[in-house]
Amino acid sequence: MFETILYPTDFSDVAQKALVYIDQLKSAGTKKVVIVHVIDSRTMDLLVYAPTSYMTIEKDLREDAESKIELMKKHLEKSGFSVSVRVEVGIPSNKILRLEEEEDVSLIVLGSHGKSNLKEMFLGSVSESVIRAARKPVLVVKR
Ligand code: ATP
Ligand code: MN
Repeated sequence: MFETILYPTDFSDVAQKALVYIDQLKSAGTKKVVIVHVIDSRTMDLLVYAPTSYMTIEKDLREDAESKIELMKKHLEKSGFSVSVRVEVGIPSNKILRLEEEEDVSLIVLGSHGKSNLKEMFLGSVSESVIRAARKPVLVVKR
């Protein structure tokens, strides 16, 4: 039923927790997982004040994300999924919603919260925007 899953991660504990559920979706017919990390371009905009060049920092963030994703990719492949990886620069919720269309996914699996994980927030801002605008079902893994 859920043939292709879009799994957005900010590498937070809550996002990491989602992997356990993705593993279990094998028995619901999932064949492919698209792992996506978005480097937030709004944080990158602040780098006009940084001495190191924008390109160097973007390259570092990209390499860091790719190496973290590599571990998850290996894990998911061992579980029998085919895995593809997208590291993008932009506004996280916009990029995630664009990939929902582009990758023709059947389910989005994300954390209710992420790196900020504020106690009083019902949902993080990325998960809220994605849940609001997604066309496909969303599985929200709680903190
Ligand atoms: P906020 O960012 O609003 O301060 P938060 O960090 O607690 O709050 P979100 O950022 O909404 O919460 O994170 C919720 C989920 O959205 C994460 O568990 C992850 O699945 C996904 N997510 C968040 N940021 C990104 C990102 N940059 N790239 C990919 N997925 C992301
Ligand atoms: Mn966040």
